[in-house]
Amino acid sequence: MNLFSELGIHDRLQWKVHKMIFAMQELPGEFTTFDFIPGIPAPFNFGLAILLNQKMLTLGEKIQTAPPLLPMLVQGQEFIDAQDELSVLEFMRKYGMPERINEEVFISMAKALDFIDPDKLSMTVVLTAMNRFLNEDNGLQMAFLDGNQPDRLCAPMAAHVEARGGEVRTSSPVQEILTNEDGSVAGLLMRDGSTVTADTYVSAMPVDIVKRMTPKRWANMPYFRQMDELEGIPVINLHMWFDRKLKAVDHLCFSRSPLLSVYADMSTTCKEYYDDEASMLELVFAPCSPLAGGNVNWIAKTDDEIIDATMGELARLFPTEIANDPRWPATGQQGPAGQAKLRKFAVVKVPRSVYAAIPGRNKYRPSQESPIPNLVMAGDWTSQKFLGSMEGAVLGGKLAAEVILDRTLGNPTKGLKEVQPSVIAAAATHEAKEPRGVKGEGAIAFGAGAVLSKAGMDILREQDGAQFDGETLPEVEETPEPVAA
Ligand SMILES: Cc1cc2nc3c(=O)[nH]c(=O)nc-3n(C[C@H](O)[C@H](O)[C@H](O)COP(=O)(O)OP(=O)(O)OC[C@H]3O[C@@H](n4cnc5c(N)ncnc54)[C@H](O)[C@@H]3O)c2cc1C
Repeated sequence: MNLFSELGIHDRLQWKVHKMIFAMQELPGEFTTFDFIPGIPAPFNFGLAILLNQKMLTLGEKIQTAPPLLPMLVQGQEFIDAQDELSVLEFMRKYGMPERINEEVFISMAKALDFIDPDKLSMTVVLTAMNRFLNEDNGLQMAFLDGNQPDRLCAPMAAHVEARGGEVRTSSPVQEILTNEDGSVAGLLMRDGSTVTADTYVSAMPVDIVKRMTPKRWANMPYFRQMDELEGIPVINLHMWFDRKLKAVDHLCFSRSPLLSVYADMSTTCKEYYDDEASMLELVFAPCSPLAGGNVNWIAKTDDEIIDATMGELARLFPTEIANDPRWPATGQQGPAGQAKLRKFAVVKVPRSVYAAIPGRNKYRPSQESPIPNLVMAGDWTSQKFLGSMEGAVLGGKLAAEVILDRTLGNPTKGLKEVQPSVIAAAATHEAKEPRGVKGEGAIAFGAGAVLSKAGMDILREQDGAQFDGETLPEVEETPEPVAA
């Protein structure tokens, strides 16, 4: 929120009614909600929102859920951080939470927060989110940006920097981090062959890219070796345009489907895409591969296969809306009531998105301060109290700025975060190698997402083979043995 205020673009946020909306698995086409009553302060508004919902948990289950969360209210962040070694499911079982809360709430929460299921997700992530719901009156209120991010958010950020004498260069990848004999940064070799030098260097690259760019001189330093324990998680983002308007919900919806996470009808929720005639859904497809804890490797599948599976899921969730369309065999069971047909789609694969917040990762997230005197680390994956999120990225940047300021003014910094003894021991014997570097031109090479052509998939297979673990390869017909004459 501070960032929006600093940029003077608060009015670009489209606030939605303070509630959470869940699709009902067992009552297709229907939704149920946690409603936050205006004027009631936290944590009572959260408690009341859950108590008043009659469709998801019984009163007994609700009462059973509360005690395990009480230590969080008393001990705060200390209790939250201490749960990082447990998955959500392990925490539930350890503290005697009812199993059904997993089905009813935690699966959708885990998939929305980190694109994985509760048996894989660290409980710290869920508690961090819950702590905000319990402490801030509007901790769960959602807003949509009123249009595309490059124009509506990134452009004002760039203008802010430029107005203060800075220069913003886009599409200018760093090829290599150059170092001096003493290990400090000597400069950045850019892809175009030029070199950029500065007093201080800030990396805000994703962790998977930083690992590929770490100079050989730094390879035995525990600070950099701890990053081996962190990696981005795959996720798929879908954009689906329909030929007519679906039942309008002006909010983010938790699908509670095995394949899908959250989705929204952008033709209703977001000004730039408003359309009274036809819906445009944006959906998160997760977990999308064995790397993300799923059973099926959807990253390896074709766009048509992914859309067909999604259409089948939408048909199941909204039987009276989605049409039986021979183009999408998974809609084959639809009756005549469903009329909406898919007009076009885009499947955006993000093979390395936010760092995988599986149990035990927090201790490996590095401080913004690094052991290199003129290098500071930023990014949502660095050590900061928010999750791997846009808010976390902003906080990581602010903490990095604090380090620079303290160093420049000669003030004491907060210091380097302690590195785990096991990492220190392993770092000493690590065989230092030249960095692998980033190859390729596309967004995927830099940690982002893209619609992948066959060639794009081949490049991904070459660069990041782990993405194809558990892939079901097409069956190859066996050639019969030649018959001996
Ligand atoms: C499908 C999806 C949905 C999401 N939904 C939400 C949401 O609703 N709310 C939320 O808060 N978060 C959401 N997130 C997470 C959010 O996008 C990330 O947490 C956030 O973008 C992280 O910001 P960052 O600046 O740390 O890293 P990034 O946004 O990944 O930025 C890293 C930058 O480094 C650049 N870079 C990489 N390599 C080089 C190089 N060699 N030279 C120069 N530059 C380089 C990249 O081009 C990129 O611009 C979502 C993520 C995904 C994938």
